[in-house]
Amino acid sequence: MKYTGPVCRLCRREGEKLFLKGARCESNKCAITKGRPGPGQHGLTSASSKKSEYAKQMRAKQKAKRIFGLNERAFSNYYEKAADSQKVTGNELLRLLEQRLDNVVYRSGIASSRAQARQLIGHGLCTLNGKKIDIPSIQVRVGDKFEVRDARKKMPILMDASAKKPTAPRWIKVDLKNLSGEVIAQPEKDDFEKTVDSQYIIEYYSK
Ligand code: SF4
Repeated sequence: MKYTGPVCRLCRREGEKLFLKGARCESNKCAITKGRPGPGQHGLTSASSKKSEYAKQMRAKQKAKRIFGLNERAFSNYYEKAADSQKVTGNELLRLLEQRLDNVVYRSGIASSRAQARQLIGHGLCTLNGKKIDIPSIQVRVGDKFEVRDARKKMPILMDASAKKPTAPRWIKVDLKNLSGEVIAQPEKDDFEKTVDSQYIIEYYSK
């Protein structure tokens, strides 16, 4: 089941910033910056206490799920797909997650969080290769072009994006003024989400 509670609670549970709320995450309002403890009775000790191997594996899986905004089923489907591939499972898992359209729109800098990217796409405000699309999970391929639809480019949240400095990774070419971009390469190991420990995730699912 998808978590629908306050998202800052998820960072507090992991004891680190997961960057789920866009600009707020960089501000002093961030619960982690303020040093707020984890939620619940064991909040003060959960992040720092000695963890069993299983707990580390579980937390690695939970953290990755939360970063990419996925429910249990969707995340384990990605794992199975990666494990069934002829490639290195951990790398393939992270590559599949990176290549989701919502992640690409976030990484490009057009959306300030993956949740916002998901909303933009889910509400039909983006195109992929010139066609309106509303599936945030779609896998992009090299050569795919994405763009915010013309009529929506003046939305205040998107006007902010066009004034930002480009932060897109090398595998995405972005035109922030025009709120558009192109996937120009496959993401490689160095491009993957740095805070996700794929080895622990593999161990979790290999039991
Ligand atoms: Fe996490 Fe962002 Fe909330 Fe900070 S503001 S706790 S990084 S979601």
